[in-house]
Amino acid sequence: MFTIGSHLSINKGFENIGLESLSIDANTFQFFPRSPRGGQAKPLNPQDIKALEELMNNTDINVILAHAPYVINLASKSEKTRNNAFELFEDDLKRLDQLPNNMYNFHPGSHVQQGAKKGIELISESLNRLIREDMKTTILLETMAGKGTEIGRTFEELQEIIEKVDMDEKLGVCLDTCHVYDAGYDIKNSLDDVVDEFDQVIGLDRLKAIHLNDSKFGLSSHKDRHEQIGKGELGLDAITDIINHPKLKDLPFYLETPNDVEGYKEEISLLRSLYVE
Ligand code: FE
Ligand code: FE
Ligand code: ZN
Repeated sequence: MFTIGSHLSINKGFENIGLESLSIDANTFQFFPRSPRGGQAKPLNPQDIKALEELMNNTDINVILAHAPYVINLASKSEKTRNNAFELFEDDLKRLDQLPNNMYNFHPGSHVQQGAKKGIELISESLNRLIREDMKTTILLETMAGKGTEIGRTFEELQEIIEKVDMDEKLGVCLDTCHVYDAGYDIKNSLDDVVDEFDQVIGLDRLKAIHLNDSKFGLSSHKDRHEQIGKGELGLDAITDIINHPKLKDLPFYLETPNDVEGYKEEISLLRSLYVE
């Protein structure tokens, strides 16, 4: 089954975001559990969660993906920023524990002037304190474009973080197609090689989700500017290959393209027409 959805706002509640997803022919969705800029999260409404559970029991929506706020930087040089990131992360995990089958995607962080090695140490230290044995959520490290001092532009950096985490069975990776292309992995012309490289460095069993975005800029540009499906440097042929790749096609795909809900609906319809069941 093709699992495809888009990033949607949860301002109207979880049941409504589920219904909105179904209305655009999606069977999963991504959401911010709080404002991407951080701050207090809205209290969870148990009735709304119950309604989402029921919706997920009765429809093809089987998994949902939360995206951590952008302000989270577990690799920051500032202890205050790191502590704040830790608190938001911990609180998000606590809340997600109450939601049905979900994953939590986050940007590994930016090391600023400390170097990737130090940044990787700080991130894994935090993860070791954040991961609890009894938690249900799988935490996903997102592949990054390598803008500024972002960690996670190479598969090796992600693997170094994972290796340092004790309860690594709670960890996975979310591959962002715009970001990896931006980072220098040529998924347009050598998709098989990139998939093999991911398998060799991290292992494909870690790959849990795909952010499906076209890219405004070319290979190795490190810009992180998403584009609508088929309208960027990747193009529709490459994206068709990605969603149908035998080692990727069963993963959940999430659109983070510059679009309104109607635009997502059109992209999902297009992608469904190109997906081979
Ligand atoms: Fe992201
Ligand atoms: Fe992304
Ligand atoms: Zn991005």
